[in-house]
Amino acid sequence: MAEQVFLTNFTPSQLQEWVVSLGEPAYRAQQIRQWLYRSLESDIHNMANLPEELRAKLAERACVSSLRPLQHIRSVDGQTEKTLFALPDEQTIESVLMRYESRQTICVSTQVGCPIGCSFCATGQGGYQRNLTAGEIIDQVLHFARLLRPEGLPVTNVVYMGMGEPLLNYDAVWQSIVVLHDSQALSIGSRRFTISTAGVVPGIDRLSAETLQIGLAISLHAPDDELRDQLVPLNRRYPLSELLAACHRYVAQADRRITFEYALIDGVNDELAMAYKLIELLRGLPAHINLIPLNPTADSPYRASRRDRVVAFHRALRQQGMKVTLRLRRGVGISAGCGQLRSQAGDHQQGQRP
Ligand code: SF4
Repeated sequence: MAEQVFLTNFTPSQLQEWVVSLGEPAYRAQQIRQWLYRSLESDIHNMANLPEELRAKLAERACVSSLRPLQHIRSVDGQTEKTLFALPDEQTIESVLMRYESRQTICVSTQVGCPIGCSFCATGQGGYQRNLTAGEIIDQVLHFARLLRPEGLPVTNVVYMGMGEPLLNYDAVWQSIVVLHDSQALSIGSRRFTISTAGVVPGIDRLSAETLQIGLAISLHAPDDELRDQLVPLNRRYPLSELLAACHRYVAQADRRITFEYALIDGVNDELAMAYKLIELLRGLPAHINLIPLNPTADSPYRASRRDRVVAFHRALRQQGMKVTLRLRRGVGISAGCGQLRSQAGDHQQGQRP
């Protein structure tokens, strides 16, 4: 039996080459793409305009999805849903659907585990196994697109903020964006994609040069190197001076503002002095700061900041004219922090991502 391929792993031209290699006309590739990305079909046998013989050939050689859902949970308010998936090699990843008033956002994973090792993050504490393929990233989005379709709702936004550091898996991440953005596929607007990085400077420079304009978020979490070295160990490789220089280059080239994520951790990074350092650090950059009280886990020594400290930190930034949003913690009841569900399911995860 021929080795099975995963259809979403192919770029349009690769799919065409593969279809031709099966002795089929090239236009069949476009029909298959229609089924995958427009009809969201998950069963090759239902691809009605393909000849039966081709469907049988495809079913023997190809899979529509590389993901097997293991567990699906929904928050009490129904606004957040999370799925734990098994990959073909039985590794596991998680993805989250967040419903807002007028948009449906999918938070995707890009790696199994994460090599960055942030001290407050379940995924980071659990180590790193491998990069995801482009297909494994796309399949997370397609899973939720199928789930939303009966409600007449599309996936409107995709954020690369799940397990893993997306800029360390650049090629697969970018391929997934190009495919999902394609007007023949899900047609998600380029500005509705956001990549969140812990600060991989060469990746930020690469993003600056792309013609597709997507959103960039930096997981900052600390305003000085001493603290950031502890919280986000990647800072030892790319300290704040280098990271901020890359941010300035990005803004100059891409002409876009950058979002800075700051998880407020009780007694660690929530002093008012830290807020003032943060203001100095970001001065001159078109920046938006997202403040998020840490999403707590049982085993972590870190706790979310107290409400009064959150409010004071937020107020200090606003008073100095910073653009800042105080984000509600979503999915606390369903372990929506990155890596939490996987951790509970018995993988080697311990902490959490905010
Ligand atoms: S917070 Fe993000 S970058 Fe840090 S360890 Fe977790 S997944 Fe990796």
